[in-house]
Amino acid sequence: MSEVPRYTGRFAPSPTGPLHFGSLVTALASWCEARAHQGRWLVRIEDTDLPRNQLGAEAEILTQLETYGLIADEPILRQQDRIDLYNHILDDLAAQGDLYGCACSRKQLTGYTAYPNTCRNKKLSLTGHAVRLRVSDDTLCFQDQLQGQVCEDLSKTTGDFVLRRRDGIISYQLAVVVDDYLQGVTHIVRGADLLDNTVRQIWLRQCLRETTSKPIIEPIYAHIPLAMNAQGQKLSKQNLALPLNVKKPVENLQAAFVALGQNAIDASSPEHFLQQAITCWDINRIPRQTQLDGQF
Ligand SMILES: [Zn+2]
Repeated sequence: MSEVPRYTGRFAPSPTGPLHFGSLVTALASWCEARAHQGRWLVRIEDTDLPRNQLGAEAEILTQLETYGLIADEPILRQQDRIDLYNHILDDLAAQGDLYGCACSRKQLTGYTAYPNTCRNKKLSLTGHAVRLRVSDDTLCFQDQLQGQVCEDLSKTTGDFVLRRRDGIISYQLAVVVDDYLQGVTHIVRGADLLDNTVRQIWLRQCLRETTSKPIIEPIYAHIPLAMNAQGQKLSKQNLALPLNVKKPVENLQAAFVALGQNAIDASSPEHFLQQAITCWDINRIPRQTQLDGQF
């Protein structure tokens, strides 16, 4: 009989800048949900997109998390250290006939929503070209804990999608799915901006399952509504969301907790706050929407 895997959650920031209020909301939600289930909580640095990484951002993020008392249970994993592993997995998928090389330029693809399958049957080499994963035209669905049922026919929305760029950079989709699988992640609590990546990740996991006899967990998803700024844009490093004021960690934690629909907590330190947060956390109080009310 197989054992029920232990609840394993994670927070996976990209080192493109320091954490802002929106990232704290997500980190806190995933931490509380893991702790409320006596689970493990992991931190992973998603740094495969080298040109977007900012020098010093990773160290800053880790210091910020420490200030908030959000400490990972295992050593931090960096995707940049795992490029060989991702390429091995691509070899397995290729052996199964799931991949093909694509020579299309960005310009050739302008105006298409889904990839038009231009290179699907050209048998181009995987080296020196972008590598795409074949998708099926079945509609895939999953049940999100907060957003309800989400269904997508990938052949119409994205088409065959890229797992490795022509310049060798591993796509976010591949790195995330491989790492969640190898780290035994059972629950994914993340921002609703990633909701429309999920079906691609579910499909990729299905393809990976055919390459291995090892069990691959299908994680449970909860996509957290996003914090928006006064202009109605999601807080992000691109639109210059203010980094968190680390001199006010308790205030920031309190604000993030209330934004998540939870009851206010009085606390004298981040540790004191988190102790109480675990006992009164209730994921069902999170607003079932993709954006938080209010401006942050
Ligand atoms: Zn192509």
